[in-house]
Amino acid sequence: MATIRVDREACCGNGMCVALAPDVFDLDDDGVVVLLDPTATAQNEAAVAQAIACCPTAVITLDEVPA
Ligand code: SF4
Repeated sequence: MATIRVDREACCGNGMCVALAPDVFDLDDDGVVVLLDPTATAQNEAAVAQAIACCPTAVITLDEVPA
């Protein structure tokens, strides 16, 4: 199990994460990323990994929690 984290202060708001994983990320009215669900699951892990890889400011991270 891992927890998804975002650094909203450094988000540039290009929306790549929302396009790749709309169940996990959204943009608020100011165009800053909002984490809808911080839980990394088997269902969203591929999309979240893509979002991490494509985020231009590298503000999306995963905290691994030991089982
Ligand atoms: S991809 Fe990164 S910079 Fe772009 S909106 Fe998402 S968190 Fe912000």
